[in-house]
Amino acid sequence: MHKSSISEDINAVLMRAKSAAARSGRNFSDITVLAASKTRNTREIIEALGGGITVFGENYIQEFLPKYEALTGFMSKGLSWHIIGHVQKNKVKYIIGKTDLIHSIDSLKLATRLNDRSASENIVANILIEVNVADEKTKNGVKIDGVYDLVKDLNYLSNLNLRGFMTMPPFGKGSRKCFKMLREILEDVNAKGMYREKLSTLSMGTSSDFEDAIEEGATIIRLGTVIFGERPLKNI
Ligand SMILES: *Cc1c(COP(=O)(O)O)cnc(C)c1O
Repeated sequence: MHKSSISEDINAVLMRAKSAAARSGRNFSDITVLAASKTRNTREIIEALGGGITVFGENYIQEFLPKYEALTGFMSKGLSWHIIGHVQKNKVKYIIGKTDLIHSIDSLKLATRLNDRSASENIVANILIEVNVADEKTKNGVKIDGVYDLVKDLNYLSNLNLRGFMTMPPFGKGSRKCFKMLREILEDVNAKGMYREKLSTLSMGTSSDFEDAIEEGATIIRLGTVIFGERPLKNI
């Protein structure tokens, strides 16, 4: 099924990402390669760490927590966890202080819950707003016409730091247009000074389109299958 090793896959992917950065006149050091590690076990994650990936993104809190506990020893070696999947409000309490970035904030209610929990633990949580750029009915994320209001409201939540935006475009053609639109929204928010700090993070691009995403300005690409191989069919 998965013939090459994880570290060989990582080397190949890094080469492709570096070429895409060079093509678009960007510094590769401005781009974080996040391994999307849903369905992957701790052995696979440790192998990816050995291959030079330090940032891992998990989708499901109940899957993330045991991995987090099992791998705390690797935090001193630079292991960093992000949450990239939809977060239910009643799960917020389990992730406070365990992640460096939550990519998937999609409502003021969720943001307020996260802010309140963070305040009671005396921490500031880094977040992205997930934007449903293509306005797909079945997808999580804020529609484009709701992004600006949410950005403005986040100014008042002092235990959250908004860093930028994330998107998961529809599979297949058209993702590049979504990436471009997301970058333009970020530039617009910055030009209008809508948030108390400049936004700089664009989390966009997966195995099938990360080179396009880099060329459109991605600062975090989220890669699963090109690093770990195909996922088992269940649980996707
Ligand atoms: C699974 C997942 C990815 C990675 O997808 P691949 O196609 O395997 O690279 C990226 N982002 C999110 C939000 C995911 O759930």
